[in-house]
This record gives sequence, structure tokens and C-alpha cells, in this order.
Amino acid sequence: MSHYGYVSEQLLTGRLWPPRRRRPKPEPEPPRLDVDRMRSHFDFAGTGRVVTNNAATSQTPRELIELFRELSPRYESVHRGQSTASRRITEEFEESFDTIATWLNAPSRRCIATYRNTTEAINAVMYSLLTEFRDGDNVVTTLMEHNSNFVPWYALSREILPRLGRRVECRVVRFDHETGELDLDHLAELVDDRTKLVCVTGASNFLGTKPPLHRIRRIADESGYRRGDGRSGSLLLVDAAQLAPTSVIDVIALDVDYLAFSFHKVLAPFGVGVLYAREPLLQGSLPFLYGGDMIAEGRVSPDLVEYGDLPWKYAAGTPNVLGVIASAQALRLLVDLALDPDEPWFGTARPLPRTHVESAMTLVSSHVRSLTDAALRRALAIPGVQVYGPGPDVSRSPLVAFTVRGRDSRQVASALDEHRVEARAGCHCATLAHLDLKLNPPASCRLSFAAYTSHEDVDRAFTALERVVGAR
Ligand code: PMP
Repeated sequence: MSHYGYVSEQLLTGRLWPPRRRRPKPEPEPPRLDVDRMRSHFDFAGTGRVVTNNAATSQTPRELIELFRELSPRYESVHRGQSTASRRITEEFEESFDTIATWLNAPSRRCIATYRNTTEAINAVMYSLLTEFRDGDNVVTTLMEHNSNFVPWYALSREILPRLGRRVECRVVRFDHETGELDLDHLAELVDDRTKLVCVTGASNFLGTKPPLHRIRRIADESGYRRGDGRSGSLLLVDAAQLAPTSVIDVIALDVDYLAFSFHKVLAPFGVGVLYAREPLLQGSLPFLYGGDMIAEGRVSPDLVEYGDLPWKYAAGTPNVLGVIASAQALRLLVDLALDPDEPWFGTARPLPRTHVESAMTLVSSHVRSLTDAALRRALAIPGVQVYGPGPDVSRSPLVAFTVRGRDSRQVASALDEHRVEARAGCHCATLAHLDLKLNPPASCRLSFAAYTSHEDVDRAFTALERVVGAR
């Protein structure tokens, strides 16, 4: 009997009729970040503080503090020693560049330079490109930048290059005051065949906006700017200071030329920032800083200096050895805290698989997104509270910036502090955006979240805000 014959016989005999209802399979729960496990690694979590100034700097887990102690018996400088201690610390220092490269999906450590912070990394790009700007060129940046990604370009065009007799314009793209979105039509208008560089934030530290980097890349590519290497298109620099802590970053997929971020916002202690740049750019540009350690061994004479191989050409002077090691280990620890693997990545030099980085950061990013959605909804429901930037249900930085009608933002932040809620008020170095929004004084109050922020933190923060503004 054919299969169909069997079915019709069963139907006739009623054995398949009425058709048995299949119980709908429960949707598999998407994996969630275990925030309690994450928090158990941080000392602040037992203090009652509601740490909501994470956009400024993140808390450091116990393991990273311990790491400094663990490194102390074998403390040494890098690159110039013959001792076992020196060779070992050099290896750990250099391997840290591999971990950072994997974190960003950069092709190799040759594309990674370390500086003190995002600000210095962006300045490094400015000084490296200084000699390459031609008279009549321009730089395009935006009104939603942190001052770190505006002031260097202002200084280049208004102060430095004019002294060298070159005119270079700094153009600034608007944003929509209602939605907080970058005005891409305005960007496309400002970018032209003299635009050497487009500099844009990956995620705003005030509005929370994440500009569409793929579309911006296309606009930069189509500018018609003639580069020295015969290719056409403008360079693209992304300030990823607010992107790195809670997002998957893939410099290949983003197709960026430069990307900068600070480790003190990604769990590590203060003092290390990263510049990713395409290898040919680093190969071809002049370094930002000159001196020891960045030169090819023995290749210094009064008439000729040759520079070290990448990335060390961009590492003049004794580097922040412990800071760089701790920073790379912070990335490994973040993967451990998010994924709880059988064998930890922290404290090892095992090559970190890129897939683990992506899984860990996907968990972190969906966690902070749910916190931010909840926070925005609470904020929007409080009478007299004006929230800036995109609303809930869009991908944005994990923060809420707001003003309270008739109240000084600094005074609101101080009142929140009485409830142990650590808001931050001021212009957050996003001075251009505050002035553009005509905020007078140019200040807002900001609550910002991290991978270790709990829903209870958000609840406590907004309950406190409701009390402070008299909505409770
Ligand atoms: N860009 C953005 C978007 C930032 O949020 C910050 C830090 N507030 C910076 C740049 C500057 O970072 P740093 O102070 O570490 O140089």
C-alpha cells in the first residue's frame, strides 16, 4: 500500500481523525547573560551603590586587580632584556595585541597601536595625517561627537595647518533634534571630492545614537577624493569609545580605516586606549610619537633613522606594559563572565576564538538593550522629564540622558546621589550637541549602564528619579 493509501485508510477508519493537535513547541529561550554571576566578580556590587556612570568609566573586576599582584614578582620592562623575566613579560605584552586584534576582528596585531585613551588615539591619527592634507581639503565630523573627535579636527584646521600655510576646512554634520539620528543627507552634502576624512562616533555618549556606519562608509567611498595611492574615496574614522564596551565590533565588516576606544570603559584599569588602523595606512603614515622602542634595532644614525616593524613603529617609549596586559586579559575575562566556559580564557595566552568573542558580546549587547529599553520607558513616563536621543526599541548606547523641567541637571544628579544613584550631570564633553539643542546651561543628567548593571539597578535609579522630581 502506498503511503497515501495508508493515510486515507486511517482517515476512513477514523484513527487519524480528528487530527491530533500537536502541542506547539515552546520557543527556545534565547540565552541570557547571567548578571548575578557577572556581578559576583565586582567589589562594588556589595556596597549598595547604584553604579550608573558607566559611560564615563567601568568598574574593574577583582581578577584584574589581582592580576597586578600576580605580575609583581616578575615585574620587568619589555623588548630590551635578556632575562627570563623580561622575555616572559615581553611575550605576554605582545600576545596582548593578538587578543585585542581578535576582539576587533582585525587581521593581525600589526593593525593595533596602543595609546593612553581614545583621545590620544584620535590625536595620533590627526598627527599621522597632518602632512598629508592638501590645501583645500576638508574633514567632516558631526555635531554629536565627543570633544575628543571634534577638537583635534578643529585644531588641525583652525590652528595647526594655517600656520603651515594650508587651508583645510572642518565641516560638521547636523542631527535631528527629535529622533537624535544623524542627518545623512547633510553628511552626503558636506562630503565632496576634497574630503580626506570622515570622523564619526560609533555610539553617542549623550544622545545614545548609533549612526549607520555602513551607509556612512558608502558616502565616504563615493566622495571622489583622490588619495595619494591613486585610489579614490575618503578615509573613515570611528570613535568606538561607547561601542566597544557592549557591542560586537568587527572592523572588517564595518570596513573602517581607523577605530579608537578606551579600555577603562571595558572593565580594565585606566591608562590604555587602542587605535585600530588598516595596515597599509600604518605602514605608509608617519608615526605620531618618535623616540626609543619604535626604531628598528640599531638603525639610528645622524643621517638616517629606520622605524620598527608594525605595530612597534607606533609604540615610542616604554609602554604601559601592565596596563596593556591587564586590558587584553579584561577582554578574556569578559568572555569568561559572559559564557562561563569549562576552561577559562582569563589568565591564559590561548588564542581566543573570534566566535567566543561574538557570542559573549551578543549576550552583553542584548542584556544592555533590555536595560536601556526599560530605562527609557520609565524616563519617558515621568512628567517634566525630557529625554534626548532615540527612543526604546532601537539599537543605541546603553544610557539615558535627560533634563528635568525647571531643575538644574547638576542639582538633580546630586539629589540622586542621596539615593546612592550615581548619575552624571554636565555636557559629558558632547558640548556641540548640548549647544545645538539650545540647552542652557549646556548640561543634561545621564544614567548609563554596563554589562554588570542589573534590572534592579535600573529600577532603583528610576524610582529615585521619580522621588527627586516629585512624581512619587
Ligand atoms: N568618545 C566618546 C564617545 C566618549 O564617550 C569618550 C569618553 N567619555 C571619549 C571619546 C574619550 O575617551 P577618553 O577620555 O578615554 O579618551
